[in-house]
Amino acid sequence: MTAKIIDGKAVAQDIRGKLKQEIDHMINEQGMTPGLAVVLVGNNPASEAYVNMKAKACQELGMYSEKHHLEADTTEQALLDLIEKLNGKADIHGILVQLPLPEHIDTTKVILTIDPKKDVDGFHPINTGNFHIGIESFIPCTPYGVLKLIETTGLDIAGKDVTVVGASNLVGKPAAMLMLQEGATVTLCHKMTHDLALHTQKADILILAAGCPGLITAGMVKEGACVIDVGTTKVAGKLKGDVDFETVKEKAGWITPVPGGVGPMTITMLLYNTVQAVKQAT
Ligand code: NAD
Repeated sequence: MTAKIIDGKAVAQDIRGKLKQEIDHMINEQGMTPGLAVVLVGNNPASEAYVNMKAKACQELGMYSEKHHLEADTTEQALLDLIEKLNGKADIHGILVQLPLPEHIDTTKVILTIDPKKDVDGFHPINTGNFHIGIESFIPCTPYGVLKLIETTGLDIAGKDVTVVGASNLVGKPAAMLMLQEGATVTLCHKMTHDLALHTQKADILILAAGCPGLITAGMVKEGACVIDVGTTKVAGKLKGDVDFETVKEKAGWITPVPGGVGPMTITMLLYNTVQAVKQAT
């Protein structure tokens, strides 16, 4: 079997097209332009690239965006003050603080300062708590993108065996929770898992978010499985996923490439969450 390739760029484009229509309607009919503030501290090149991509994506859809680039030695208090200011701005509906932050800044404190109604990354404990108990909330963008990609396959997630590899607060845990809420039986693996293949081989849907290039080989995948590769690691200047794509694509039913799979969905779901924030604010 050769897997169908899930084209994340095309799925993202489709969602962005629908979002553009909603945004045009908000602007023209309600006089409301969705606004996103992106905050970057320091000069991490990858973070700078992400922030620029987010600002560009906002502009393409006609949204308002503000970029706040603070020096690497900015004090924690100065960052908290900026967030408080953004919390109070009526033209800003979403606030994104690009992670990771420099070590002298307490990330938890920063996340706790963002108004949960503007927490479009879905990292504030009020949002994560609501999400876990099934109350409507902002869903973290990358796992949300993973769900949207799986939905394009037409697979019914309910009753499926799903294995998630990687258990971070940003990706693995919320991805597992989302799959559970969709009715799947979920196994969550991490670096202490003894026999990883035992868990991956039984998965109808396999989600990889470990950041270990080539970790998953064909022998670890069930025939016909849907394989979603979140992993992105730079190897010799190229982005590599957690999946050994060339061999696994001969066994899986569906597979996402890296790049061009989950990546384009993360920013798209950030834009989606910002539009939801406008709806909740009005
Ligand atoms: P993280 O380092 O915070 O967490 C990694 C998780 O994987 C941990 O739970 C760890 O226990 C587990 N793990 C590590 N090695 C393992 C192994 N050999 N076997 C099983 N589990 C293992 O990373 P993260 O922030 O969750 O990101 C994970 C990957 O996803 C990274 O490659 C990151 O770059 C990528 N990512 C991509 C996007 C995107 O938009 N495409 C967004 C976020 C993260």
